[in-house]
Amino acid sequence: MTTSSRKSKKIINDIFDMIVDAYTLERKNMVLNQLKKRNIDDLKVLKAFSQVPRHLFVPLSQIDYAYYDRPLDIGCEQTISQPYMVALMTQELDLEPGMKVLEVGTGSGYQSAILHFLGARVYTIERFEKLADSAKEVFKKIGYDITVKVGDGTLGSPKEAPFERIIVTAAAAKIPQTLLSQLAVGGILVMPVGSRLSQELIIAKKISSEKIDQRRSCACIFVPLVGKGL
Ligand code: SAM
Repeated sequence: MTTSSRKSKKIINDIFDMIVDAYTLERKNMVLNQLKKRNIDDLKVLKAFSQVPRHLFVPLSQIDYAYYDRPLDIGCEQTISQPYMVALMTQELDLEPGMKVLEVGTGSGYQSAILHFLGARVYTIERFEKLADSAKEVFKKIGYDITVKVGDGTLGSPKEAPFERIIVTAAAAKIPQTLLSQLAVGGILVMPVGSRLSQELIIAKKISSEKIDQRRSCACIFVPLVGKGL
């Protein structure tokens, strides 16, 4: 690399850092008012939300609303979830660094980025190539090593299974059996389960290869999970 191209690369990186910094206050407000005031009390999770640049994961037309307390359109008739819902699902996963995690429904890539920030080895599957490509681009830009696949996430990822954690960010009437079979014993799966317009966030723990314990966390509304494994 020549001295002048090294200089221009540095200028571009400095500009990028400034852009990220311009949203620091918005991230802080989001953490204090939307997460901490509700029931998000895991300090590692709060730190992740204060650092991961959510505004890079939304379309340019939505950037002013990136830190608002609501979901946003990301194209392909899909959404990036409300920050609180991403935080709650992350907290319910009870992650440890190094855990192998499968996410079904990459969408914008923001949830995956939060999991990566917390030290997880993240595999994420998205059915729309356009969304997967855009998430990949952001991961590359911010240097996050996350494996993104295009395909039907209801079938999981047999090659990489078992997973210590699985998070499904789209809703269905039941948890796909394939995903439960790809969950390690002792592992946790988090997913919205219910009808098209009203679901409950379900936390499933695999006690043994035959026994799954389930509990309800809260009411929620997600876009539908669409796939052959339902
Ligand atoms: N986690 C995302 C984020 O951080 O932006 C939000 C996900 S959005 C609420 C749900 C996503 O699940 C959509 O992008 C949708 O295309 C995807 N989806 C639905 N069914 C799927 C399937 N069978 N396999 C993979 N992705 C699926």
